[in-house]
Amino acid sequence: MTFDPETATFLIAGPVRIHPRVLRAMSMSSLNHRGDYFHEVVQEIRDLLPVLFGTKGHQVVLTGSGTAGLEAVYSGLIQKGTRTLVLTNGNFGERSDQIVRRYGDSVTTLAAPWGQHLPLDAAVAELEKGDVRAVCAVLNETSVGLQNDLGRLAPHIRKSGALFLVDGISAVAGIPCPIEPWGIDALVAGSQKGLAAPAGLAMVHLSERTRAELKPNSFYLDLGEHLKSIAQNDTPWTPAVPLFLALREALVLLKEETLEGRLARTKRLADATRAACDAIGLELFPDRKYASDTVTAIRNPAGLEDKDVRKALLDRYNVAVQGGQGSLKGKIFRIGHMGIADWPDLLITFAALERILAKAGKLPVPGAALTALGERMP
Ligand code: PLP
Repeated sequence: MTFDPETATFLIAGPVRIHPRVLRAMSMSSLNHRGDYFHEVVQEIRDLLPVLFGTKGHQVVLTGSGTAGLEAVYSGLIQKGTRTLVLTNGNFGERSDQIVRRYGDSVTTLAAPWGQHLPLDAAVAELEKGDVRAVCAVLNETSVGLQNDLGRLAPHIRKSGALFLVDGISAVAGIPCPIEPWGIDALVAGSQKGLAAPAGLAMVHLSERTRAELKPNSFYLDLGEHLKSIAQNDTPWTPAVPLFLALREALVLLKEETLEGRLARTKRLADATRAACDAIGLELFPDRKYASDTVTAIRNPAGLEDKDVRKALLDRYNVAVQGGQGSLKGKIFRIGHMGIADWPDLLITFAALERILAKAGKLPVPGAALTALGERMP
């Protein structure tokens, strides 16, 4: 069998599978983005964004992938002559570090090895020096399947008065993002992850004080302009109209399920995925205590390579999971279980994984992964 995107079991770490209602919403003929019909679409999106973020606030949608959302935040809030702390433990933390360094000239990077938790004690020590103006961290490090416990750092950031800027691209609508309890000043979401909309939009939430501190260094991504426009049900530049139509429907679907419902379902699938891995001897890559609920990163079993696992899943069973990035290429594979992923996706994926391991003589207990999943199904 060769990969067929229309029928695949599609569990990469984002973009994720898209609901047919969202696909249909996107396939409309061109709209005048300055006309009443589209203004109503933007208004509905604006009214639905608090469902996504779990709170109200200054919220915008940018045409551009998640990185555009990060660049909008960093370009508007990181200023030369002020100190920024960036915490990294994977590919996307390092990406934030690169972006921040385009805008700031005093950047301290605190890095943990990929797959280990962020170095929070070192961050607290830096914050106690009193001159940090902004802290940037990834809530869910997709590249290593690790959920950072930013709640432990939040009180220290608040005490220091620094801005708390969070990459929530694979976290929002997947794991809890307690914006107000943690005092998050900027949270960036990507359309293609927990929300299960097509790739290509970034949603940004800003706190009250952050809005006042914006100093645009980018024209296209000037958050002040985007906030002014969305208040009038408009966008400053020509938006990706079909993606906005899809976004509206994906937000309606989320509202129907409720944010709490989606988070709970994602967590159940994550727990079941980890149990299924344990049952057949597949080892998680990150520190288990912090394993992500939106994406599970798994080491390739000893003696097996990417082609033996991930490529076999795709070629033999039409199951798409994701490989490792950077230094982890060929060493791990990742199963995304966010958005509208559900039990049938996991059952097919683990049935195929069991078969692959059995053929390689590496399946300790046949059927154990499926039993583990079944025991956790509602
Ligand atoms: N940050 C995180 C945590 C991500 O998971 C991703 C994408 O997977 C990005 C940033 C980059 O987002 P995009 O590829 O949508 O620009």
